[in-house]
Amino acid sequence: MSFQDKSIQCSQCGTTFTFTAGERRFYESKGLTNEPGRCPQCRKARKQQNRGPSGSWSSYASRAMLSREYQQ
Ligand SMILES: [Zn+2]
Repeated sequence: MSFQDKSIQCSQCGTTFTFTAGERRFYESKGLTNEPGRCPQCRKARKQQNRGPSGSWSSYASRAMLSREYQQ
């Protein structure tokens, strides 16, 4: 499977950003097949706000951490 850079429009601020081939490969290797809906800036801002788990792909890691805490 080959990866190519892809332009995506941020669903939050409307900026067009590039989802690079390297990033696509990285996400794929993590099992994340969804494309990011937000630009890196919005993702970063969202992470800093830390509003808890949601359906967004960007909260994948925090959800995994939370579910681990609930299990104990
Ligand atoms: Zn944005």
